[in-house]
Amino acid sequence: MQRLAPSRRLLRAALAPARANSSLSAAVAAPAPENGAASPKMPGFDYTPPPYDGPRAEEIFRKRAEFLSPSLFHFYDRPLNIVDGKMQYLFDEDGHRYLDAFGGIATVCCGHCHPDVVEAMVNQAKRIQHSTVLYLNHAIADFAEALASKMPGDLKVVFFTNSGTEANELALMIARLYTGCNDIISLRNGYHGNAAGTMGATAQSNWKFNVVQMGVHHALNPDPYRGAFGSDGEKYARDVQEIIEFGTTGRVAGFISEAIQGVGGIVELAPGYLPAAYDIVRKAGGLCIADEVQAGVARTGSHFWGFEGHGVIPDIVTMAKGIGNGIPIGAVVTTPEIAQVLTRRSYFNTFGGNPVSTAGGHAVLKVLEKEKLQENAFVVGSYLKEQLNKLKEKHDIIGDVRGKGFLLGVELVTDREKKTPAKAEISHAMNHMKDLGVLVGKGGFYGNVFRITPPLCFTKEDSDFFIDVMDIALSKL
Ligand code: PMP
Repeated sequence: MQRLAPSRRLLRAALAPARANSSLSAAVAAPAPENGAASPKMPGFDYTPPPYDGPRAEEIFRKRAEFLSPSLFHFYDRPLNIVDGKMQYLFDEDGHRYLDAFGGIATVCCGHCHPDVVEAMVNQAKRIQHSTVLYLNHAIADFAEALASKMPGDLKVVFFTNSGTEANELALMIARLYTGCNDIISLRNGYHGNAAGTMGATAQSNWKFNVVQMGVHHALNPDPYRGAFGSDGEKYARDVQEIIEFGTTGRVAGFISEAIQGVGGIVELAPGYLPAAYDIVRKAGGLCIADEVQAGVARTGSHFWGFEGHGVIPDIVTMAKGIGNGIPIGAVVTTPEIAQVLTRRSYFNTFGGNPVSTAGGHAVLKVLEKEKLQENAFVVGSYLKEQLNKLKEKHDIIGDVRGKGFLLGVELVTDREKKTPAKAEISHAMNHMKDLGVLVGKGGFYGNVFRITPPLCFTKEDSDFFIDVMDIALSKL
């Protein structure tokens, strides 16, 4: 994500024009996504949010600048005050509806405020909200059983956490404990979290602070678009072998990678890479960790887990985001044998697996099945990708279209040969798309990749609308 306003100074600067115009909210409300004569028409949706009489964008923005971390950043020249959500749509303070093509960063999978998920959480909250795992409660056990049933092989022991970072921290520690080794290999351009260990595994300078990060080696990224070996997965995997031979004792704790890099700009790993890399790592005694925080939970459409699309079975799987549809929950799944290492000391997480989160998570799995959302991600996601490829034929600024299901990326470049990142252009296009009623994400190391990760209930009509809006925004650059 490109930082539009990374500091308090910039937050204040962003606020200044709003003050000059006397009302930021007026500017936010100005675009009428469904009313513009020449604007594409958003698909109909039979829902009107309740009236909103809470604080306006301008007031929230001012409080945020004064009382929240100056490191917070936001999308759009004038940040949106989103007050309601329903399925694949979001509503601002004036009731304007937006098509959500970002899903709270690849997190909302069943749809915003899905009634089944809300009901499960409310019912649980009315009985018991928190007790810790020191007492028995069926919610955590039922969800663990349901998650384990979605896993291949012997992956059936679940540890619950509160976030993806926590899940990956735990996975890295488990790998180190199990193997007795310290060295971890992760991929350049990967994102795995922002705590002590995971920041080490994350391999993009813009997400790394200048603090001690030890014991991680970053392998060549098997990136078919920008990588040195194109789509030859096995050639990239040789780098893993060389890291082991020249950078470690010859034995490693493990290897961690996403199946499709999310924050890194929806980068699909070159075919054949993961099986070759897993093979090499296992020969050096290491465990293979699949970070499914973005690619998991049916998002890629072809499979429930992203790693399944590469034909590998990991030793440890980590997840968050989609498993909760927006509830703060993460999990680590591994084999009974590997899980034993945590009995050597006390391991405890106060909120991990709390009844409300796990009741909600269990409801998410049921909705995914009941509403066949994986199939929808496959069918509609493939259609959307086809349409994006057609846009690529029309707009030279599109350098690459990639991804699977509803984990799609569109990389903008000012020169297709040199692949020069179109950083300013993508921000203009995003603002324009928002004015036409579409919210989309962006990311990638250079901040020039549209990230299209909508709730999995996104329809074909939504896709057509999305394409029309992106087409206009790119035409106006
Ligand atoms: N892994 C991946 C692949 C992610 O995309 C993220 C978050 N963007 C994380 C881990 C960290 O998750 P969280 O923000 O919940 O700590």
